[in-house]
Amino acid sequence: MSSTAHEQAVDRIRLTACTIPTTFDGKPQPESDGTATWDSTTILLAEISAGGRTGLGYAYTSPAALPIASGLLADVVLGTDPYASGGTWLAMAAAVRNAGWPGVCASAISAIDVALHDLAARLSDVSLLRMLGAARDRVMAYGSGGFTDRSDRELTEQMSRWAEEGYRAVKLKIGTHPEDDPRRVALVRNAVGDDVQVFVDANGAYSRKQALELADRFMDESHVTWFEEPVSSDDLAGLHLIRDRGPAGMQIAAGEYGYTPAYFHHMLAAEAVDTIQADATRCGGVTGFRSAALQAWAVGIPSSAHTSPALHATIGAAMPGVVNVEAFHDHLVIERQLFDGLPALIDGDLVPDATAPGLGLSLRSDAVAHYRVGAWDSAD
Ligand SMILES: [Mg+2]
Repeated sequence: MSSTAHEQAVDRIRLTACTIPTTFDGKPQPESDGTATWDSTTILLAEISAGGRTGLGYAYTSPAALPIASGLLADVVLGTDPYASGGTWLAMAAAVRNAGWPGVCASAISAIDVALHDLAARLSDVSLLRMLGAARDRVMAYGSGGFTDRSDRELTEQMSRWAEEGYRAVKLKIGTHPEDDPRRVALVRNAVGDDVQVFVDANGAYSRKQALELADRFMDESHVTWFEEPVSSDDLAGLHLIRDRGPAGMQIAAGEYGYTPAYFHHMLAAEAVDTIQADATRCGGVTGFRSAALQAWAVGIPSSAHTSPALHATIGAAMPGVVNVEAFHDHLVIERQLFDGLPALIDGDLVPDATAPGLGLSLRSDAVAHYRVGAWDSAD
């Protein structure tokens, strides 16, 4: 190791888990989609220091990611060169092999990988977008919420607000009341007008036959152009069927549960989706997202970034083939509370600050302390 690299070796790791209750219009409120109900969200924050600078990464995950990161990964990362994150990523994946790489371990790796990239960019005093080699300077975002337990008024107000803020597409959850879904989708279509695309996400709630029938109705009645997880994302043959037989002009999307590079390979090889989704806070941070996006790009399939808009604004603009980023309601609320330096929303695009080092994000320490449920510091 050169003396320069040695001086910049990782010398401290701090991990913080925060659990934030779900809210709507500032009031606590549980949320539901086609296959799950939840009343809080946990974020794992990773702060990694070297050469007098600190990088920030994060992942939306389980509180169980904190002991995995501190117990299985921290020793692998301490002492490494922040500019050698590719090798560190492989070492982290090897370290969790027997604990189970896909799942919570992959989220812990993701938070650390993002922090290492942010740190390297800060050490170079350059934005992470520029360090990664920008594919463009901004990326389209779409407003995402419309939970299945929302009233008609709550649903249409949320979607109209996003249209007014400039989002060019909005997405609602469907799948808990299949008989009522066409009506709810039509409500949203009427609320946002013809110039805004309407997306739907069933989170795998439908059978193949239900999904095929509803895909036609959504297109005919409401011109829905994106149908996400119409059936379980484990049913690659089912996704392929709906992609083949569904309406022209409707993208079939899935991939948010991808934790390893092989997952995206299998989904692409099955020709299961028109657009593949990947989540850098699950699939291995910048390193894992790059792998997924490049695999898709190589076979002409666009990528979409699942949630975490403050992070995916940079990653989505950096990587080839990324067509949009999901501005997810829960994460918009959380990221506004926890971070300063959020990317701007301009004409429906997220625009990272190319003049700020790294991701441009800094933690709001009062909010972090308020929601903290666990913490670990290699210096203790
Ligand atoms: Mg989804």
